[in-house]
Amino acid sequence: MQLDVLKQTILDKGVILNGEMLKVDSFLNHQIDPVLMDKIACSFADEFRELNINRIITIESGGIAPALMAASRLGVPLVFCKKTTPKTMRDPLYATVHSYTKNTDSTICMERDLIQPGDRVLFIDDFLANGQAFLGIQKLVQQSGATLVGAGFCIEKAWQSGHDIVEKTGIPWCSLVRIQSIKDGQIEFT
Ligand code: 5GP
Repeated sequence: MQLDVLKQTILDKGVILNGEMLKVDSFLNHQIDPVLMDKIACSFADEFRELNINRIITIESGGIAPALMAASRLGVPLVFCKKTTPKTMRDPLYATVHSYTKNTDSTICMERDLIQPGDRVLFIDDFLANGQAFLGIQKLVQQSGATLVGAGFCIEKAWQSGHDIVEKTGIPWCSLVRIQSIKDGQIEFT
């Protein structure tokens, strides 16, 4: 499934940085276009409706907007993992994630009782690059005793290793826009 309106928005408003990073902060992860987010959410809802999920999970902050809209469409709560542990967190679960954008390791955390054994969890994120965020989420969901039943990404950078990492798990997953390459300032979609 490819979402043409997201492709067009990337072409119109995306900015290429350092050859292979895509800056999307005028519509996706800083300033947020709510109409576009709702179209993204509808696509995820159509894709994953049959999975009987009862939670969506994401990581702050880039994933929150599309994940929240998808959660609203599917009528389930959203849990977003935090990158710093607040003093109010009583029983945190932790996982380490290597950040592609910052080139550092960070620890994500989540209050243990927000996701229960037996829950069916869908991961939504803004980008799929090297799959490190996905692996961190997989570890957290595993620790909680729930099942990660699907994953949805707004933008996939297909030349990076995330595609194979997610594919190997065998769970249903999709990306709404798949970028094949960014060469000489040109974005090529698959
Ligand atoms: P991964 O964990 O798959 O290596 O990278 C996914 C995370 O890195 C996403 O949550 C996103 O925040 C960030 N990311 C990866 N590539 C890009 C990019 O080209 N642009 C932006 N803005 N973020 C990216």
